[in-house]
Amino acid sequence: LPEEGEDSDAAGSDKYLLKQLENEKARLLSIKESRKLLPVYQYRDELLKSIKDNQVMIIVGETGSGKTTQLPQYLIEDGYTQEGKFQIAVTQPRRVAATSVAKRVSDEMEVILGQEVGYTIRFEDKTTPNKTILKYMTDGMLLREFLSDPMLSKYSCIMIDEAHERTLATDILVGLLKDILPQRKDLKVLISSATMNAKKFSEFFNDCPIFNVPGRRYPVDIHYTLQPEANYIQAAITTIFQIHTTQPLSGDILVFLTGQEEIEKTRDNLEEIAGRLGSQIPQLMITPIYANLPQEQQSRIFQKTPPNCRKIVLATNIAETSLTIDGIKYVIDPGYVKENSYVPSTNMTQLLTVPCSKASVDQRAGRAGRVGPGKCFRLFTKWSFENELELMPKPEILRTNLSHTILLLLSLGVKDLLSFPLLDKPSIQALAKSLENLYILGALNSKGTITQLGEMMCEFPCEPEFAKVLYSSATNGECNGVLDECLTVVSMLHETTSIFIGPKKEASSRIVSEVSSDHALYLEIYNQWAKSNYSRTWCQDHKVQYKTLLRVRNIRNQLSRCSKKLGLVTQNETGRKNLPVSTDLVNNRMVKAFITGFPMNVVQLGTTGYRTVGKTNGGLDVSIHPSSIVFQNYKEKAHKPCKYVLYQQLMLTSKEFIRDCLPITHDEWPLEMVPHFFK
Ligand code: ADP
Ligand code: MG
Repeated sequence: LPEEGEDSDAAGSDKYLLKQLENEKARLLSIKESRKLLPVYQYRDELLKSIKDNQVMIIVGETGSGKTTQLPQYLIEDGYTQEGKFQIAVTQPRRVAATSVAKRVSDEMEVILGQEVGYTIRFEDKTTPNKTILKYMTDGMLLREFLSDPMLSKYSCIMIDEAHERTLATDILVGLLKDILPQRKDLKVLISSATMNAKKFSEFFNDCPIFNVPGRRYPVDIHYTLQPEANYIQAAITTIFQIHTTQPLSGDILVFLTGQEEIEKTRDNLEEIAGRLGSQIPQLMITPIYANLPQEQQSRIFQKTPPNCRKIVLATNIAETSLTIDGIKYVIDPGYVKENSYVPSTNMTQLLTVPCSKASVDQRAGRAGRVGPGKCFRLFTKWSFENELELMPKPEILRTNLSHTILLLLSLGVKDLLSFPLLDKPSIQALAKSLENLYILGALNSKGTITQLGEMMCEFPCEPEFAKVLYSSATNGECNGVLDECLTVVSMLHETTSIFIGPKKEASSRIVSEVSSDHALYLEIYNQWAKSNYSRTWCQDHKVQYKTLLRVRNIRNQLSRCSKKLGLVTQNETGRKNLPVSTDLVNNRMVKAFITGFPMNVVQLGTTGYRTVGKTNGGLDVSIHPSSIVFQNYKEKAHKPCKYVLYQQLMLTSKEFIRDCLPITHDEWPLEMVPHFFK
């Protein structure tokens, strides 16, 4: 079918449709042929034999050799799904990888995405019961499946892909799999990993075999800067134009940046410069890729570069191993990555931009050598590479808040956390801190056993803190009756990074002239949109991303369904009918509900500004981020700052910033709502 926006006259004609069909046929045919050209194809039979002979196998191979897309198809062809009796699951650390690979494989198998081949990511399930035999999913989703099916009985094969990424969910998954293997003798487990870590995985699974798929890789010339770069974005832009103006046009550029903001800033900059240069330089096709990028824009990175044009892919480290983009000849690598970092002694999680590991930058450089000899421009010094970079990235389990995971394990009946099989064990201190957090939330009792509330929190497809907010907003006498509002805000908070078109301030002033918190703003946006009958035009008029709100609505539906299932009732059925529907009252109750879920995220006003509170994690100075409504209210509208403010995100850039803030309008509320923490 014609794409939206294409000339409708031409699109409607038979000739046009026929031509489209021809193109599609040619495309599918070439996809089929190209399957045989991938390095894994030569090893197909050997691989299948080895899988037959071993319950667990590690598979190592160059990125792009066909592990993710081909292996599961070989398994189907070899009868592992037994005509639909069993499924094959392939886990990915990233949502984007799960969805885009599923799309590719459904194309290769010539089936409709969501039928035989589908994907499951949080808040989105594109599979069909009794039909889907191959399911790509995030590692976190398979982890959740253990809750309902602890033996994973519907699967005959599990492929843990990109295991070297060592996400928390992957680490826990391999532990759980190791546990059930003796009871599921028929289950096949494939662990796919880049070369780093392969041996570690093999040892973990009692020295299981490692299958190596030799890849093709052309030499990559590595260039370093002579001096450290103060501004790597500027340096990256300069390098892009240097390549673009001096090197032959055949050969696209891949730039590794740390996140959405950086990527969008760089894109704007590039477009501005290219616009100024006009026809003096060949055209650029700038394609960003990051986790929050709307799905329909993600596929652009795979589009063929038009003639007389160079594709510039601006990517997060998602392009390091999970996605393969053909045609890349130049890699520009500033050498940074954004990483969560949790400090148990302060109970703080920060998203930090840190230097990559050696393993990562080598992996990145390799992306330039897939189609032919390539070049990699590292925007740091050779000395730095040799002396400053860590050998390997630090596994997430060693740098994250473990509350969620511990709750899940306890709910799965794992009693002794210390003896649970793990590739790397978190520190006792980190474990203790997470247990304490769960106790404060009421998920564990003082003996460390999981409570009914804790079990309930596990059922929610969101963090336990958010689940607690929803629970309180329905059941707590101090703040019940606002479940509907809290469902909306919690859903919006899952998507806050991509709600607005352009600056948040500009968009929000179009929506509401005065609002007390970011939470209230999100609620207002959603409610107005709902009132407009979820219209696209309303979004355009108010500079809000329509697609994002559609996702929010979807999240909200799921959370709402889950609440209903658990017996939490919405306003219409509770004491809300005795409650005047005044915005203030609703807002107050919402604030209280959020305090019960995030007592650790409450900061207190001191003489120098806001500071974190609590026995162990108090005393850190934080500033309200300029993008927050609360910042505008306090700084620009000179509202009197509240003694306490609750935040959803803490980030470290030039200083410690808190984002998505909710002023607590009554000083006594923290102590009233969570006495065992605030006393
Ligand atoms: P691996 O998992 O070993 O890194 P993949 O199975 O992901 O390799 O990719 C194999 C090949 O399939 C890639 O080299 C690329 O040419 C092609 N490919 C994969 N995903 C896509 C996609 N979404 N669009 C187009 N081509 C793709
Ligand atoms: Mg892969």
